[in-house]
Amino acid sequence: MVMHLDQDKERSNGHAHQNGQHVAHSFEEEHQPIQTQEAYLGKEVDHARLIELGRELLLALGEDPDREGLLETPRRWADWWREFIEYDPGKTDTTFSAVSTDQIVCVSGMRVFSLCEHHLLPMWCDVSIGYIPNDKVLGLSKFARIAHQFAHQLQIQERLGQDIANEISRITGSQSVAVILKGEHLCMSARGIRTPGLMTSSVMRGTFRTDRDLRMEFMQMIQ
Ligand SMILES: [Zn+2]
Repeated sequence: MVMHLDQDKERSNGHAHQNGQHVAHSFEEEHQPIQTQEAYLGKEVDHARLIELGRELLLALGEDPDREGLLETPRRWADWWREFIEYDPGKTDTTFSAVSTDQIVCVSGMRVFSLCEHHLLPMWCDVSIGYIPNDKVLGLSKFARIAHQFAHQLQIQERLGQDIANEISRITGSQSVAVILKGEHLCMSARGIRTPGLMTSSVMRGTFRTDRDLRMEFMQMIQ
């Protein structure tokens, strides 16, 4: 219930705070529709339009886009957007047969960069993922690829966690998935309240949701 409170706060004033720390939880319902990866692939930016917009942006900021330092800026800016949006995670669905189904597989310490969709300002998230394999285990490097894949779009931290969990479930067939994100948001530290802080959000599904001991074990593993 506390979780819902936090989410409501999040909705009403943009961000929730506790003792200067930025805290939100998004334990969600167990049965989520599984989105497919395809929905995120093949996105393309309008590069020519971005160059025009970059020039417009400089003008709106009161700059002279024709001064020497800014001549190539709209093009570089357009390049950056293209690189960000058209990110190719490579192959993410390589799986192997599981040897046992009674252990947590956990990968932590992955830092991803994303853009907050409310302010178009950067955020960094440290991602920890755990799951209990059924019959398939995911190749180790794939966790980071999946985390980056869903970070490379306009995001909010809560949805990033859900997107990652959905994708791990889709590929491994496991419903027991945990994703914890600790994020620092420039929209919080560089504007508005200007207070550095970390926002923590968690997605707990299947056994991670129902089994407290398992959840604790996972939390210890990612410390
Ligand atoms: Zn923001």
